[in-house]
Amino acid sequence: MEKVVIIGTGCAGLTAAIYAARSNLLPLVFTGVMPGGLLTTTSTVENYPGFPEGVDGYELMTRMQKQAERFGARVKLLQSLEAADLSKRPFVLTVDGAKVETQTVIIATGASHRRLGLESERLLEKKGVTYCATCDGAWPVFRNQPLVVVGGGDSACEEALYLTRFASVIYLVHRRDSLRASKIMAQRALSHEKIKPVWDSAVTEILDCKLDKVTGVRLKHLKTGAESVLPCAGVFVAIGHVPNTGLFKGVLEMDVNGYLLPRKGTATNVPGVFVAGDCADHIYRQAVTAAGSGCAAAIDAERFLAAQGN
Ligand code: NAP
Repeated sequence: MEKVVIIGTGCAGLTAAIYAARSNLLPLVFTGVMPGGLLTTTSTVENYPGFPEGVDGYELMTRMQKQAERFGARVKLLQSLEAADLSKRPFVLTVDGAKVETQTVIIATGASHRRLGLESERLLEKKGVTYCATCDGAWPVFRNQPLVVVGGGDSACEEALYLTRFASVIYLVHRRDSLRASKIMAQRALSHEKIKPVWDSAVTEILDCKLDKVTGVRLKHLKTGAESVLPCAGVFVAIGHVPNTGLFKGVLEMDVNGYLLPRKGTATNVPGVFVAGDCADHIYRQAVTAAGSGCAAAIDAERFLAAQGN
């Protein structure tokens, strides 16, 4: 019987693990399919406190895991959380076919990249359509080629800036005529000579499924309705995220977009189940706020266990 199982090893899950481990709760921590979470796919994290020169996202997450393990957290590679019976305590999780009983659960499952929802996007994924410049930007096929980044937030700016080291030109295709990104990121992106904004435009098709590779995008100007084709060798989709909460639908309270809704602090409507990080946050979604909520969830779980006499 586990005292605390933490699902997810992004900033939220690993910070919860550090705190739960230091409370002698020996947390069992499942990684999910993306150990380290979304931050491992970013390049330099410049806004995490304590790193005036910035820190590589992968390195930051590796350090967090080591810190949690140092105090006794057991981090296990999980491929699939198949079921979570939260109807009574102990809770029973089915993980890669095995059953795990636990008195409390901290859900820190994060969020995944949102997709455009185009059939051509699906067919050309990993054949020139990608969701991560840091992971895929250095592919030879993208070198000295025009590339498209879709989106207008910080992620889109970050992707575009990262790609300037490989591409000949980056078209930043956004559906409005101003960026949602923070001022500093927007300014950096728009002042870069290789980044060209394409305003008020939606990607309606990625070309060319017949050739099984990306050769361009079909665009629709949302104000005039005019259609055009923009040649490019790759499409980087950076249009936000969707929370990884499908398994808890109908059991845990969530909003219409699937973000979990804690009731008090990090506690959910099911006593003993706590939430942390991006799976419950559509407002801040920062590494440091995720870490903060992970800390809070571990403290809430510890107090819950203490109140139960554990
Ligand atoms: P975001 O801020 O939600 O921006 C998503 C962008 O994609 C928006 O510009 C949105 O357009 C557009 N979009 C959404 N759905 C679309 C669709 N179906 N088709 C076309 N465009 C679509 O997401 P994000 O950029 O991933 O950022 C998420 C959070 O992480 C933010 O809080 C951000 O500050 C943070 N972040 C920070 C950094 C950094 O500080 N370096 C880096 C990355 C992320 P509209 O503008 O019209 O809504």
